[in-house]
Amino acid sequence: MAKPKRVGIYVRISKDRKGQELGIQRQEKACRELCERLGWGVLKIYAENDTSASTTSKRQRKVYTEMLRDARAGVIDGIVVYSIDRLTRRIAELTYFLEEQKEHGFAFATTEGEDTATANGRMILTIKGAVAQQETERMSERINLSLLQRREKGKPHAGGSRLFGFKEGSHFQELEPGEVELIRLGYEMLMDQKTPGDVSRKWNEHGARTPEAGTAWDIQKIKRVYRSERIGGIVTYKRQDIGDSIYPHPLTRQEWENVQTVLDSRARPAGKGAGKRKHVYSGFLTCGHCGSTMRIQWATIQGRTFRRAFCHSAQIGANGEHGCGKVNRRYDWIEERLNEVVEAALLARRPKPQTPPTDDVTEEIKVLEERIRGLRNRWKEGGMEDEDYFDSLSHLRSDLQALRAREAAATVKEARTETDALAVWRDEEMQNLERRRAIVASVIAECEVFSVGRGRKKPPELDSIRVWPVGAERD
Ligand SMILES: [Zn+2]
Repeated sequence: MAKPKRVGIYVRISKDRKGQELGIQRQEKACRELCERLGWGVLKIYAENDTSASTTSKRQRKVYTEMLRDARAGVIDGIVVYSIDRLTRRIAELTYFLEEQKEHGFAFATTEGEDTATANGRMILTIKGAVAQQETERMSERINLSLLQRREKGKPHAGGSRLFGFKEGSHFQELEPGEVELIRLGYEMLMDQKTPGDVSRKWNEHGARTPEAGTAWDIQKIKRVYRSERIGGIVTYKRQDIGDSIYPHPLTRQEWENVQTVLDSRARPAGKGAGKRKHVYSGFLTCGHCGSTMRIQWATIQGRTFRRAFCHSAQIGANGEHGCGKVNRRYDWIEERLNEVVEAALLARRPKPQTPPTDDVTEEIKVLEERIRGLRNRWKEGGMEDEDYFDSLSHLRSDLQALRAREAAATVKEARTETDALAVWRDEEMQNLERRRAIVASVIAECEVFSVGRGRKKPPELDSIRVWPVGAERD
């Protein structure tokens, strides 16, 4: 970098707090010495008489302004001051000066130097750093603000991989009708006490595949779809719910909230016995002779296939002994009898027709939504500072979210009593087995099975089994 040949020396007389007045001559002398040492040529002395050196002074310093104008115009190619505080005491002004220096490329030096050994040098470096940092922050603030404003207008983040339900490459702005149908079907299933596992089987049956890997659906992948705010048209910013998408979405916000409540509270009682069962009463039947848990198996005898329940002699029973192997019965007959027992029990405990009053927050939600709309309009018309707007908005939104969660919880509670256990019980689909077994466990503790004579044509006597209901006294 060429040495400046037309340096302006800025000197200022001021009355600072400590009363340390520094004579203009002394300042000028030190600056000239510095220029000589550096080999810089001096063109002009800018001398200012400014006795109000306070940091809040708004008074224009005419000489300073003139000097900057000269520097910008290239009249001078460098500025030398005794110390930074001679130049200015206002950080904003210094910031501006350093920005100007950078932009117009004039040289700048103080007699105290810029090296970090002096407080002055450190200050300059700090300020230079602060200027750079401030610029960066301002930039990112601006970017974030525009992002937030986008979301605020209901435009969700367009990045990320495709989500089931949305058209490829549409940035979540267009729906894939076939997939939406499955999402809606799955929604109905989840609200009807079906599991994410049930939904995955249903989707796989329909030949649906995951958008990322093209693989079959499983429980986790199903959950991920329903956990995504996008499918409820909820726009988020920094994980905060900030409003509703203006684009179509597979579920309404309310439906999405309902699903979250269901997914959050999924805890089904495990049926008796943990492993996979194929029969509703597996584990419930005990041998009337020895007390072992009976095994249920498919058997084919003389071309006819049927199920039988038997005491297995190679199997350790509940009493720690091997089964006696003496009881062997047709399972279907037992199943029919036990089905009657369960059905009767469920009918007896059917919920009364009157439902408890729901937690009705619809009105409150409306009022809040109205307030948010009003706020947004004021902001859009420029009647509100961004900061105030987003601040008030986030408060209103969190209130709204709380109300919506309450509303969702009430809806789910209602839906659950409506679909009573009887409907679940009567759905004899294999996929429903574990849920049916849970219902059995709430009615039947155990069923003792006794032997009946072989080869009889007439059906076994009713007292060839003994049902122990849940909670019954045992002898
Ligand atoms: Zn036995």
